[in-house]
Amino acid sequence: MVQKTLVLIKPDGLQKSLTGNILTKLSEAKLDIVGAKVVRVSKELAEQHYQHLKDKPFFTELVRYIQGKLHGPHYERVLALVYEGEDAINRVRKIAGATNPEEADPTTIRGAYGRITTKGVYENVIHSSSDPKDAEREIALWFKPEEIVVSSAEPKKEDQA
Ligand code: UDP
Ligand code: MG
Repeated sequence: MVQKTLVLIKPDGLQKSLTGNILTKLSEAKLDIVGAKVVRVSKELAEQHYQHLKDKPFFTELVRYIQGKLHGPHYERVLALVYEGEDAINRVRKIAGATNPEEADPTTIRGAYGRITTKGVYENVIHSSSDPKDAEREIALWFKPEEIVVSSAEPKKEDQA
């Protein structure tokens, strides 16, 4: 099934200059990028994005992490991407690796580049949507509809002679 999935290169990924490596690794999934932008993450956006974790003891620190508050003022941003293609959600999750970077396979993005902070937050350099419902919710949260390129097998009207 053709799916869309949200990917965030988190502030630690940007600070570690991993953008190129991460995009190269994700290209193994043979998907299309249909949306991309740099976002300064507000507290509200961070809290909504991680709403499923709001009762966890690490929630406050997690919100600070995705906002870049742990990485100095220069890295208060993320790179947000939407990938589209066959089985996109699982393909990206596989390349991203397990949530805990110490348990993640070392050949995955999180296994290769993630760490656990002294406060216990998993700094795992990348977010990817976990299922179709989450993907839809997250893409709507981070992107306006007009910021996503619509892929279509049919030629667009203005492209026709
Ligand atoms: N996280 C953490 N400790 C945990 C679980 C999660 O620090 O015990 C952080 C980690 O950065 C993770 C994010 O919270 O990527 C979202 O957690 P989720 O369970 O949704 O994992 P993911 O979908 O990112 O693999
Ligand atoms: Mg998740």
